[in-house]
Amino acid sequence: MYHPLPRIEIDLAKLTANARLVVDMCRACGISVLGVTKACAGSLQVAQAMLTGGVEMVADSRLENLARLRSSGISPLLQLRLPMISRVDECVAIADISLNSEPTVIAALGEAAHRLGRAHGVVLMVDLGDRREGVAPDDAVELALQAAETRGIEFLGFGTNLTCFGGIIPTRRNLGQLVEIAERFRARSGHPVQVVSGGNSSSLPLVMEGEVPAGVNQLRVGEGILLGRETIRRSVLPGAYQDVFSLVGEVIECLEKPSLPCGEVGEDAFGCVPEFSDRGHRWRAIVALGRQDVLVEGLEPADPGMEILGASSDHLIIDVTEAEQRPHVGEEVRLRIVDYAALLTAMTSPYVTKCYVGEETGYRLDLWSRLPEVSVFEHRDRGPDAASADYRA
Ligand SMILES: *Cc1c(COP(=O)(O)O)cnc(C)c1O
Repeated sequence: MYHPLPRIEIDLAKLTANARLVVDMCRACGISVLGVTKACAGSLQVAQAMLTGGVEMVADSRLENLARLRSSGISPLLQLRLPMISRVDECVAIADISLNSEPTVIAALGEAAHRLGRAHGVVLMVDLGDRREGVAPDDAVELALQAAETRGIEFLGFGTNLTCFGGIIPTRRNLGQLVEIAERFRARSGHPVQVVSGGNSSSLPLVMEGEVPAGVNQLRVGEGILLGRETIRRSVLPGAYQDVFSLVGEVIECLEKPSLPCGEVGEDAFGCVPEFSDRGHRWRAIVALGRQDVLVEGLEPADPGMEILGASSDHLIIDVTEAEQRPHVGEEVRLRIVDYAALLTAMTSPYVTKCYVGEETGYRLDLWSRLPEVSVFEHRDRGPDAASADYRA
């Protein structure tokens, strides 16, 4: 089968094993895991591999990704990013649950859900210090009571997100605050709290130390499963694979050249003034991929003797003088994807063919295609499952 290069190779067996490892580790602490697919553009195969590994549900930030998953039969689904009020109808039609912090948006979701004859699950996000999404801890119980009273809304519980914007580390103390809030809500309302969602992959070290406060019963994990690392210090999760993803490109030139550029120095293609040290003549390969395909800083050559020198939009320059196998023009070079930004860019670049190891087919993302043509407003009189049935079609 012909796959245009560059291609990203995704090892689903390793991915499933990583999901199982994280799920088992969390289960031992009474925590269930949502598998986060947003770094993989909501890939169906990635979602399925995570589900096979035992995650309870799939979660993604974007409605476009969730819509594709839903139309392939995956549900329930959770929207991670706070819904846009301009798209609450789509959110309700596509996602079963969303994370929220704005009362006006929750009210709009409730109205949309009621109109569509369904209930939309809401988790209220609390900002425990990271300063991305979430309400102040002091306001959480009051806002939750309000959400629980909203027609069309099923209030499920509380969540937090840490180590994303402010770099704040999850601790017994800040996660304990979330449990306290849930406890106060239960006492005030008499309603049980189904979900206390204690963060993302940065909470995994706490899980491994057995230090997650009792009461936290869910984590939303992307990077931990995909790259096999926690995200506070990026140390590996023992037993997890770090090589689920690799990027393969073709050598379009391999020549021996002086290591120093020659001539007057101005700015490079990205407005930086490059600096070089003189290492004499070196063998350099140009691989046909660049910044339009991937954030090259997150790549590591599989051949330890190769060294990435830099990249422009479409060219990756590698010093191959000490390579175990110096590549010839037309040959492939394999690069491991070792960080989240590199993974995200490769999976969302329409120039990169997505290939699942062991499968014959590959595909390129058509990012410019629109959502499935569904006007959610047409479903008002057609019963609760009409909208989702159309997304499945
Ligand atoms: C992306 C995201 C996650 C998953 O983060 P990882 O670091 O990949 O585990 C969890 N929750 C929210 C709200 C997110 O946006």
